[in-house]
Amino acid sequence: MTDHAEISRHATWTIARVRPLLERFTEKYVRIPESGCWIWIAGTDPKGYGFLYSHQHGKHRAAHRISLELHGVTVPDGSFVCHRCDVPSCVNPDHLFVGSPTDNVRDMIAKGRARLVKNGKGEACPRAVLSVSDVAIIKARLAAGHTLKNIGNDYGLHLSTIHHIKTGKSWADVPAAETLELAIARAAIAVGKGGV
Ligand SMILES: [Zn+2]
Repeated sequence: MTDHAEISRHATWTIARVRPLLERFTEKYVRIPESGCWIWIAGTDPKGYGFLYSHQHGKHRAAHRISLELHGVTVPDGSFVCHRCDVPSCVNPDHLFVGSPTDNVRDMIAKGRARLVKNGKGEACPRAVLSVSDVAIIKARLAAGHTLKNIGNDYGLHLSTIHHIKTGKSWADVPAAETLELAIARAAIAVGKGGV
């Protein structure tokens, strides 16, 4: 078989498989109107992350990763897919994002800006659920004039979540630190005590 014939056969095979994967994916979740989450109702691992068999890859793959790929998002090798909504079984591509390499996440933790949560595949994402330390830092950053967008990007959170903190709709009981430096220092101490 020539190289060209091999490529052609592979292309035909891929096209033949892509449609069934999308069909199989689409029938395996239900949309929750209140949260916007698409909850996976087929196979999940013990932590709730959905899985779907990929004929193209010859193995089961994480449903949230497949979701992003099916919706046109490239997930580079070595990257991982994280949830903004902190619902492991959610496969709504709008609630997912491609995470930074783990080293960057560890760097964020060292600075007290994020905590790790394992997603069941030995991969780690910055956790969307905030700690008191996180909120204290966010409030200090807001006071220092950082934008909602910048803060949201750092934590992988929707702007609305940061806005709720700003307006006191959520986390009203967490006092703002006097300065951003103080908030970060306290967070680093909390991490050092096993607060990750
Ligand atoms: Zn969701």
